[in-house]
Amino acid sequence: MTRSRTAQRLHPTLRTRLTGGVLLPLYYRVSGIDVVSLQRELENDQWLGREALEHKQARRIREILLHAWDHVPFYRKRFEATGMQRADLEERGILERIPPLTKQEVIEHCEEFVDTSNPRPLEWSTTGGSTGETVRFCQDRAALASIKAREMRFHHWMGVQTGERIARLWGSPIDREKAYTLKERLLRRIKNVCFLDGYDLSEAAMAAYAKRLREFRPQLLIAFTTCLNILAEYMEEHGLGGVRPRAILTTSSPLYPSYRARFERLFECPVFDEYGSREFGGMAHECPAHQGLHVDMEDVHIEVTRARSLAPAGDTGELLVTGLFNRAFPLIRYPIGDLGRHLSQPCACGRGSTLIEIVKGRSSELLMGPKGIPVLGEYFIDVFDSLPGEVRKFRIHQTGAKTLRVVLVAAPAFGEGSRRYVLEAIAQKFGDEMEVEFEYMDEIPPLPSGKQLLTINETSPKPTDRGTASQEP
Ligand SMILES: [Zn+2]
Repeated sequence: MTRSRTAQRLHPTLRTRLTGGVLLPLYYRVSGIDVVSLQRELENDQWLGREALEHKQARRIREILLHAWDHVPFYRKRFEATGMQRADLEERGILERIPPLTKQEVIEHCEEFVDTSNPRPLEWSTTGGSTGETVRFCQDRAALASIKAREMRFHHWMGVQTGERIARLWGSPIDREKAYTLKERLLRRIKNVCFLDGYDLSEAAMAAYAKRLREFRPQLLIAFTTCLNILAEYMEEHGLGGVRPRAILTTSSPLYPSYRARFERLFECPVFDEYGSREFGGMAHECPAHQGLHVDMEDVHIEVTRARSLAPAGDTGELLVTGLFNRAFPLIRYPIGDLGRHLSQPCACGRGSTLIEIVKGRSSELLMGPKGIPVLGEYFIDVFDSLPGEVRKFRIHQTGAKTLRVVLVAAPAFGEGSRRYVLEAIAQKFGDEMEVEFEYMDEIPPLPSGKQLLTINETSPKPTDRGTASQEP
């Protein structure tokens, strides 16, 4: 073997060891995020039996409820109004007696959800969510560690070690701005991560991403499902192959069977789906047995409800999520806005956690810009986030190649200047020729599926997404 070939083979291993064994742990330690020991605990927990996991989960539920009583003004009032005493919160099954939150409550009483006992600076974030209602929330360092440690455990399920090369095809408006900062660029170098901007879905971008992936040779490809499907279609049409990650992680929108088949065919590796949100991070993940998504029971509790009662295993209902890891801003019985069902059978992999199937209505449909360049519906989260407090809900309909209807539940603050701002943002992405009609409503009713789509493309022959994830495009 020549020297250069040996060097090529050794280089990634050394780099991986340096990144995963030294640089990342050091970075987490400096940041005060204790990921390493938490991850070790999670690695052990996954092999606990169902009963042991439920026991641990029940203890964690009790802890977060007592913490909420002691230190979170909103819940103290809520519990007292329900006639509960502090001691009641220690009872098993008490969670189901607590009235579910509404997103509107979290928006209106945001400050009252903050842990009054935490003097440390907290990391604030927002979510455009799948309903178009922007929720502000914050996390403490322990919460960030939990999200990161659960993510790393999932990577191990896919056979990917910390420090190996990861390509991220990402289309989140909130992360996008951050992605271009100097700090993030440096962090990506340390973490061995290559960022591909899923916002730009032009053919030129697709060609560049395919080339970049071939050069970078990711061991793991993490992608917004919709964006990856556009890239994969482009690569297939143009006969571009040669990208061979060990695994693909899809997230954020439904993974249709035909999408999975296309990714597996093109990239010649298994696909692992994730269910997550900004508030909770990844909450449920597919294991190598691919029989459903394992819920991270240690840190997240997911209820499936129908008409405010728990649905039996196998029945589909609305998901209520309780985060057991974020004391800074506890979310207890939070309506995440998705439908799902618990699966009753255990997984063949031997892990004890419950399996769930998400019937995640896609929160937006692709719109079509000039020259056939697709525009992610999430673009509009960005636009309306720039007008804080002015728009409570929105939905954009593409009614023709050059016509858009903007439906808004607007606050009085939304005036002529804001309207012009929205028009300019549309012109920037869709060109000057787009005719835009505004419609103001008191409420935007959900679609028959129960979902609140942010964008609807009425001209698209593609899947309507107004049904379930099991529907084929
Ligand atoms: Zn499994």
